[in-house]
Amino acid sequence: MASRASQTTTSRLENLWALGLDESSPVVDEIPASHAGSWLGEGEICTSISPASGRAIGHVRAATLEDYDLIVKHAEESFRIWRKFPAPRRGEWAKALGEALVKHKRVLGALVARECGKILSEGEGEVQEMIDMADFAVGLSRQLYGLSMHSERPSHRMFEQWHPLGPVGVVTAFNFPVAVWAWNALVAGVCGNTVIWKPSEKTPLCAVAVQQLVNEVTEELGFPQVSFLACGGRELGEAIARDTRIPLVSATGSCRMGRELAPVVAARMGRCLLELGGNNAMIVLDDSDIELSLRAVVFSAVGTAGQRCTTLRRCLVQKTIVNDFSERLKKVYETLPARIGDPVFGSETLVGPLIDEDALDRFDMAIDTIRAQGGEILCGGQRVSPEQLPANLADGYYAEPTLVRAHADMPITREETFAPILYLIAVDSLEEAISLQNNVDQGLSSAIFTNSIRSAEKFLGTAGSDCGIANVNIGTSGAEIGGAFGGEKHTGGGREAGSDAWKSYMRRQTCTVNWGEELPLAQGVSFDV
Ligand code: NAD
Repeated sequence: MASRASQTTTSRLENLWALGLDESSPVVDEIPASHAGSWLGEGEICTSISPASGRAIGHVRAATLEDYDLIVKHAEESFRIWRKFPAPRRGEWAKALGEALVKHKRVLGALVARECGKILSEGEGEVQEMIDMADFAVGLSRQLYGLSMHSERPSHRMFEQWHPLGPVGVVTAFNFPVAVWAWNALVAGVCGNTVIWKPSEKTPLCAVAVQQLVNEVTEELGFPQVSFLACGGRELGEAIARDTRIPLVSATGSCRMGRELAPVVAARMGRCLLELGGNNAMIVLDDSDIELSLRAVVFSAVGTAGQRCTTLRRCLVQKTIVNDFSERLKKVYETLPARIGDPVFGSETLVGPLIDEDALDRFDMAIDTIRAQGGEILCGGQRVSPEQLPANLADGYYAEPTLVRAHADMPITREETFAPILYLIAVDSLEEAISLQNNVDQGLSSAIFTNSIRSAEKFLGTAGSDCGIANVNIGTSGAEIGGAFGGEKHTGGGREAGSDAWKSYMRRQTCTVNWGEELPLAQGVSFDV
C-alpha cells in the first residue's frame, strides 16, 4: 500500500481509476477536493469500504455545511450564465460527456462494481445507461417543446414556453452510484439548470470519478460549471431539503428518507422529485412460457444481490402450476451459492455482496421474521460464512439468495428488505394476483407472464397494476432510459430519464401576446372606464 505522503494528487486520481482494474491497487489516499469550486470538502474523512472484501479502498473529504453553502453560491452564479446558453449548445455538453463516458466505460464500470459490489457486467451496464442518457439529452436539447393554443380573443397569440429552474439538488442512493446522477444531471443540465450532487456516503469514490470527468469535459468546452459535488452524509441531504435557493430536490433512496425529506421541502414550497423504495411483484399465469418466466424471475430477484429498487420481491404464481414452478425455481436457486463471489475479479460470479454489515443484519432479521410468520425457506436463508469464502473475501458481506414459500397475509411480504429474498405466493386467479400485487404501500415496478392477450391487457388496464412500470413477459428490473422511470404511492410519484420527464426540471410559462389595437377581455367580460 502506498503511503499517504507518497501519493500526489495525480497519483491518487490514477489510483482511483485503477481500483476496479487491479485487485492489489493501493488504498486511495484522501483525494483533495478542488476544481474551481465545483467540488469542495474540508470536513471529515469519508472512508469507502469495498463490500466484497470489507476493507477500505479509499478516502474522500466530506463537505462541511460551510463548504456546502459555498458550493450552492457557485452553482447559483453558474446558473445565471448557463441558463442563457441556447439549449442546443447545452446539448454539446451532454454530447462531450457521453463521449468521455464511452472512453471510460470499462474503468468506471469496474469502479462502480468495486465500490458498490454489483457484478462487473452490471457495473458496465450502469455506465452504458449514462451514455444512453447523454445521447437522449443531446436530442432533448432540441426538443424542449411548448404547445401553442388558439386564443379566444382576436389578434392574440397564446403559447407556452419552458424555462430552467435554478440549481437542482440531487441526492442519490448507493445502489446506482453513477446512473441516477446521469438521469438527473444530463436532463437538468440541457434544460439550463445547474446541479448540486449529494451522493451516498457509501459510494463517494464513484462520485469523485464522475465529477473528474465532468470537470474535464466542461473545462475543455470552456463552459460554466454545470454539476457540483458535495460528498458526505445525510446532514447534507437535509441541508439541501431546507435550502430555499434550491427550487427542485430530486431524491433517490428509501421510503423512510422520502418521508423525512419531502415535508421539509414542501414547507418552503420547493418541488420534490422522489424515487423511493419498491416492493415489486411478478404474476405468472399457467398459460405463460415457463422457461422464460423462470429466467426472468432469477435475474429480477437475484441480480445486484437483490439491491435494486426494481428487484423482484414477490412472485405470484397460479395455483395450477405453483408446485412445479417452485421445484424448478428451487433447482436454479440451488446452483447459485457456487456463483457467489467477487463481483469484479471473479469471472464466474453472478451474486456479489450486500453493501455492508447493517444490510446483512437486516437480512438476518427478515429471515427470523419470515420463520416467525410461517414462511418456509426453500433455499438459502443464511449469511455466507467466512470459511466458505476465499481469504481475501472473508470479511465481505455475502448472503445466500433465498427462496421462500410464503402466504399472502404475512406482513413481511409487504415490506422492502433490500436483499435477495424472494417470496413465492400461490394465487387462484389473475384478479386475486392483481389485488395482492397492488396491496402494498410501494408502487414501482410490476410484471405479468402470460400468453393470453386478454390477461395481459387486463393487467395493463385501469383496474390492473397500480405501478409506475408494468411489463408483459419481461421481469421487473432492467428498465430502458427512453421511458419515464418512477413509481406511485410510497415510491414517491417522481419520474426521471426519458419521455417527458424533463418537464419536472423546468417551469412552464403561459404567454399571451396581443398584436391588435383593441383590448378584449377573456370570457367576454366588459370593464369600460
Ligand atoms: P437511503 O435512504 O439510506 O439513502 C439515500 C440517500 O439519502 C443518501 O445519499 C443519504 O445520505 C440520503 N439521506 C438519508 N436520509 C436523509 C434525510 N433524512 N434527508 C436527506 N437525505 C437523506 O437509501 P440507500 O440505502 O442508499 O438506497 C436504497 C434505497 O433506495 C432502497 O429503498 C431502494 O429501493 C431505493 N432506491 C430507489 C430508486 C428509485 O429510482 N425508485 C433507485 C435506487 C434506490
